[in-house]
Amino acid sequence: MSRYDAPLTDMRFVLFDLLRSEQAFAHLGYTDATRDVIDAVLEEGARFATQVLAPLNRVGDEVGCTLDAATGDVRTPPGFKEAYAQYVEGGWTGLVTATEHGGQGLPHLVGFPIKEMVDAANLAWGNFPLLSNGAVEALSVYGTEWQREVFLKPLVEGRWTGTMCLTEPHCGSDLGLLRTRAEPRDDGTYAISGTKIFITAGEHDMTDNIVHLVLAKLPDAPAGSRGISLFVVPKFRVAQDGSIGERNTLRCGSLEHKMGIHGSATCVMNFDGAEGYLVGEPHKGLMAMFVMMNTARLAVGLQGLGLSDRAYQNALAYAKERLQMRSATGAKFPDKPADPIIVHPDVRRMLLTCKALVEGGRAMSYDAALQFDIASHGTTEDERAEADALVGFLTPIVKACLTEWSIEVTYDALQCFGGHGYIHEHGLEQLARDARITTLYEGTTGIQALDLLGRKVIQMKGAGLKAMLGRIRSFAESRAGDGEIGTYCAELSDLAAQWQHLSVSIAQRSGENADELGAASYDYLMFSGYVLLGYWWARSVAALDGASVTPAFADAKRATARFYFERILPRTLLHAAAIRSGADALMALDAEAFDAGR
Ligand SMILES: Cc1cc2nc3c(=O)[nH]c(=O)nc-3n(C[C@H](O)[C@H](O)[C@H](O)COP(=O)(O)OP(=O)(O)OC[C@H]3O[C@@H](n4cnc5c(N)ncnc54)[C@H](O)[C@@H]3O)c2cc1C
Repeated sequence: MSRYDAPLTDMRFVLFDLLRSEQAFAHLGYTDATRDVIDAVLEEGARFATQVLAPLNRVGDEVGCTLDAATGDVRTPPGFKEAYAQYVEGGWTGLVTATEHGGQGLPHLVGFPIKEMVDAANLAWGNFPLLSNGAVEALSVYGTEWQREVFLKPLVEGRWTGTMCLTEPHCGSDLGLLRTRAEPRDDGTYAISGTKIFITAGEHDMTDNIVHLVLAKLPDAPAGSRGISLFVVPKFRVAQDGSIGERNTLRCGSLEHKMGIHGSATCVMNFDGAEGYLVGEPHKGLMAMFVMMNTARLAVGLQGLGLSDRAYQNALAYAKERLQMRSATGAKFPDKPADPIIVHPDVRRMLLTCKALVEGGRAMSYDAALQFDIASHGTTEDERAEADALVGFLTPIVKACLTEWSIEVTYDALQCFGGHGYIHEHGLEQLARDARITTLYEGTTGIQALDLLGRKVIQMKGAGLKAMLGRIRSFAESRAGDGEIGTYCAELSDLAAQWQHLSVSIAQRSGENADELGAASYDYLMFSGYVLLGYWWARSVAALDGASVTPAFADAKRATARFYFERILPRTLLHAAAIRSGADALMALDAEAFDAGR
């Protein structure tokens, strides 16, 4: 089985030294988020993740969830329900929810490391509480007074969980195609009918009730995505006073059998005239759903990060123990029959790639959390607006890059184990299988790329990009000519200029040929992710001055930054070349001609 140790030292470095969270929280008015409180939350989160959740990761994979076809009830793997009860008991469900909604009101920047640890320890389990947060966000912004009163408290307290019901058999990325109907009733409620597939935590045995947030169309809905409305549809009907009533007419029809996250219940949900309540305005459901999706997208990015970190730490431990052949430059451990494989350059290439992507990704994603906090708690309108633009801009990058990298990292880590990585016993193959879902759900990488380039950069006139370029340039100017960091800064300045130039040229080309945007989008997304990681690696080295870290930690950061700049950042050259080549090579082949030669 793979092991999991919480990376608290690096988390503390990112929070306290790199992002200077103490000063940031004081400025934002989070008076309860003192260093002592954060330290205690991190320690307790690490204990829960490593001692309660991690031991259930294997059983979740091997036993999975089971459906009672007669009743539609779903049983979660052994231990999952009890772990959830402990999670609720520990108050984790409302950690970052505003106090006015019954939460503890801690910053998202404190919630992110907890989420990372939960997912690293047991991704499938982490999916059960995951969507409650999004439901809380959507209902607190768009819900009626009654909906907020009745649904928020049990969701925040963890007595009920939430789901997000978008996908249907014929409609995934294109929600405009959805067919689920909502018929108005005389009493102001709606009858929801249709089939939703792939619904995470759609049915389970952990809580008294499940609150489904369902996208559906009203009878007078305009065609396409403009005609979508959002409804809250509880598993058990809820009376005016919030008490639970009889079973609603919805049930789980089947569970999907899937490649990974076996412990997560992925349900086909059948709604048969189920009682639902409109959230927000008719036909404006997508806006409300986006509130939910944005937090969920950042959360899925963290899933990628958590799995990557766990895979890396296992590969590292193995590479120090596994003895195979001698170092090319002479035996490093002559008293042993062979050297540990960590002496070999190619194994180091894989380990350093993992380390660079994990630690850089941690800095990048935690910064997105800080921007989230600034967007709601900033002291001026300008500060809040800039942070809001940054969150929008960073969300698809964090989601897509951290999950794409989780595939690379879990595969590299597995490769470090040689054939043993392919064997179930070591747990690496589970991490690789579990990681595979993260680039797919909550919008595929392709959809994130379109969101970044089409919506956040071109449609919204690049407000987030401008803010990010401003941050990179001001850092680069502040450390120009400053030894090792100065070299990184020169490279970052050049890349910032390229980033801006590529953005403008794609916008121009896509005005002439609409396919140019889609042709550039994936490479633009990855280019953006690698530049951002370069920025965070340079800032990490800069943050070592005066940081409360050991010399070994500082040396490792410097060496990994150097590896990143020399060995990974050049991937930007490839992505820039692909972007510049435009759409022609992609669109030249007729669909029928793909078959030629078969
Ligand atoms: C385990 C699991 C859990 C899930 N949980 C939930 C959940 O809780 N709630 C929920 O509603 N859904 C859930 N989903 C569904 C998931 O969000 C969708 O599978 C995903 O959004 C992709 O939709 P699709 O599978 O229909 O693929 P499609 O939309 O059919 O896409 C197929 C391919 O085409 C690409 N593509 C499509 N359109 C474009 C375009 N315009 N430009 C470029 N590329 C494009 C996609 O990137 C993808 O590579 C889950 C799925 C799984 C497997």
